[in-house]
Amino acid sequence: MHIAIKKHALALGFDACGIARADAVEPDAASRYDRWIEQGKNGCMEWASRNCEVRNDPRRVLEGAQSVIVVALNYYPAVFQPAEAPQFAYYAYGQDYHNVLKRRLKQLAKFIEENVAGCRTRCCVDTVPLRERYWAQKAGVGFIGRNNALIVPGRGSYFFLGILLTTVEFQPDAPCTATCGDCGACMAACPTGALCDDSTVDARRCLSCLTIEHRGELPAWVAGKMGQRAYGCDECQRCCPHNRHAKPCTDPDLQPGEEFLALTAERILQMSDDDFRRIFGHSAVRRAGLEGLQRNVRCMLAGQHFQP
Ligand code: SF4
Ligand code: SF4
Repeated sequence: MHIAIKKHALALGFDACGIARADAVEPDAASRYDRWIEQGKNGCMEWASRNCEVRNDPRRVLEGAQSVIVVALNYYPAVFQPAEAPQFAYYAYGQDYHNVLKRRLKQLAKFIEENVAGCRTRCCVDTVPLRERYWAQKAGVGFIGRNNALIVPGRGSYFFLGILLTTVEFQPDAPCTATCGDCGACMAACPTGALCDDSTVDARRCLSCLTIEHRGELPAWVAGKMGQRAYGCDECQRCCPHNRHAKPCTDPDLQPGEEFLALTAERILQMSDDDFRRIFGHSAVRRAGLEGLQRNVRCMLAGQHFQP
């Protein structure tokens, strides 16, 4: 059954699948997370400080859970925005990953339920407090890099992660033991110094967090760091040697639309609510909303105006 599940996950379009035992999160990893919260490095992501007991034990998310099945889906674009356009993080090019992953995870859950009588499952894509990257490492899918992304060795970090909890006890995979070694390219490339020496991200300085999660005006210093970014930031992934051979994603659900690829700063600033709904109605960009997106573009333009 272990092999059959993995085969089925690949047949559903996932690029990798691994299985871990549903134990409590190891004390070291739990206390690293607690320290990150205590230091206020979660910034505006206030939700990250809630439900810590649940986050530390998948059996609180699904009672009786025995296995954590982790799937990864490649989103590295096959086609890119023009370089002069306001840049969106690659993950936001296609349809909202929550929906894409959940649809497929539900099919994987159905496959298990049809094969193991009386079992229970729960699909989790960001909406429940679970440490996706921790579990991906435990399940042998990849390792957590200094940039805090999950890196699939040899295939890079442009992957969405989803989790399927189940009461079925499957044979677990060996955890991934790869590491960044002595590379520090992402720390050098980060435009804001958001990557800390203790391998955590300070979300208060991270452009990804600021342009997506922050509400209200952005702090004044952000303008000088925006470059050409309008939504998110991929800098610490682009420079990562593991992404040199990232394979372009051909999944139809994750391809950018023509209107998205034709966006300019002017077009975004003039965008109506109807335009926004048409272009981003099925996209993760809804999280920032039209107001947030226009704020980011104004901030980007202000930075370009004041740069020498
Ligand atoms: S997403 Fe951008 S700002 Fe955030 S840590 Fe990575 S490089 Fe730095
Ligand atoms: S750039 Fe280097 S240090 Fe950073 S995540 Fe990639 S391998 Fe690790």
